[in-house]
Amino acid sequence: RFITFEGGEGAGKSTQLRRLAEKLAERGVDVVTTREPGGSPGAEIIRHVLLSGAAKPFGAFAEAALFAAARADHLAVTIRPALERGAWVICDRFADSTRAYQGAAGHIEPALLDALEAATVGDTRPDLTLLLDIPAEEGLARAAARSGVGADRFESEGLTFHRQLRDAFLAIAAREPGRCVVIDGRKEPDIVTKAIWQAVSKRLSL
Ligand code: C5P
Repeated sequence: RFITFEGGEGAGKSTQLRRLAEKLAERGVDVVTTREPGGSPGAEIIRHVLLSGAAKPFGAFAEAALFAAARADHLAVTIRPALERGAWVICDRFADSTRAYQGAAGHIEPALLDALEAATVGDTRPDLTLLLDIPAEEGLARAAARSGVGADRFESEGLTFHRQLRDAFLAIAAREPGRCVVIDGRKEPDIVTKAIWQAVSKRLSL
């Protein structure tokens, strides 16, 4: 099983991912948690290149290609081997983040992103995607409270960018209701955890 968490900044992905992994492990499931960009030694190097520093060293397409390169390595080194041995993989961000960040908000042609995605992801698509949805203002306020001045450069983009991002994630979820579940990220963390557990047990018949 392959589960991904998606959402904008400050939606609570990391906390909820950890809680879901703990619950599954308690049930005896072999769980591998990972994240993007990153999740393998090579992809973590690319993550550092992409996210550190305030400057924007690459053009939009080069950047999208780097996210794709990181994903290709992550899939080859971490995700596919884990799935092949029967583990459940839970990933913090995946291809939908590229569609949202580099596509809708970063203005890369959808056809180009589709081609990159097809080449990198192939058949390894998530069985379930949990979209933690939160208004851009709230998410940014949470992210600022968490990381303060050291926010990475995507977090420091403006409100318009983060609104486009939210719309892009919601549009993906509306287009693929069989794979995606939208979870209201404004609720109390424990309520979000319950909603996620319900979605996982129903969709993946636990
Ligand atoms: O999940 P987290 O918020 O830590 O993600 C790291 C950063 O990478 C985020 O700021 C996100 O905006 C950015 N990102 C991106 N494109 C992706 C995946 C992540 O711009 N495809």
